[in-house]
Amino acid sequence: MRIRRFTQAMMSYFPHGNGSPARVRRVLVVGAHPDDLEAACGGSLARFSDEGHQVMAIVMSQGGGGEAEATAGMERLDLAGISVQDFTDSAMTTEIETMVKVVEVAVDLFRPDIILTHSAHDQLQDHHAVHLATLRGARRSPTIMCFESPSATSGFSPSYFVDVSDYAEAKVAAVERHKDQSGKPYTGGRVLRGAAVFRGGQARNAHAEGFEIVRALSSDLGNL
Ligand SMILES: [Zn+2]
Repeated sequence: MRIRRFTQAMMSYFPHGNGSPARVRRVLVVGAHPDDLEAACGGSLARFSDEGHQVMAIVMSQGGGGEAEATAGMERLDLAGISVQDFTDSAMTTEIETMVKVVEVAVDLFRPDIILTHSAHDQLQDHHAVHLATLRGARRSPTIMCFESPSATSGFSPSYFVDVSDYAEAKVAAVERHKDQSGKPYTGGRVLRGAAVFRGGQARNAHAEGFEIVRALSSDLGNL
């Protein structure tokens, strides 16, 4: 089984037995490629961390820049931890079974209140594969939501919104850390800001990120 640096990363950031304030939420966010999480929900992750919640990220592949590149953007978001796996870019549909186990281990170790991952409404096969693996690996978890990647299709229909008005620039800065992605127009600051304004209009505020709810337990969401 290919689970790189996984247990070590989880245990070092979240030793068992440490009590947390009741309102602190543990958020596990699962993405396929470096920069997916920043581009899709970087504002929300920055906000959660800034407000004292614990955010643990899993990135299923390293991309061309290796692990350092994979974690570069995340460092801007001040997350509690990140685990970079070495699944194969563009071949994740053949690796779902192992990715399910990665998610199962993460759920066991981190005990998240909320899990975020790719949507089924996404045109990239790797994103689909991670969506399926996360839903299966987190099948006993009450609260799962799907973020909006730039590759989401018109079928993406969010019904949960996070106000990122104070975190739009943190998101842009995180995405821009991914130098090998920076030539792609959809990760540019103008597009990211525009998307936040669009979802903000739906949410009746200035800037928002939207999520599809797979299922949600109100007590898990707390004050997020
Ligand atoms: Zn991706």
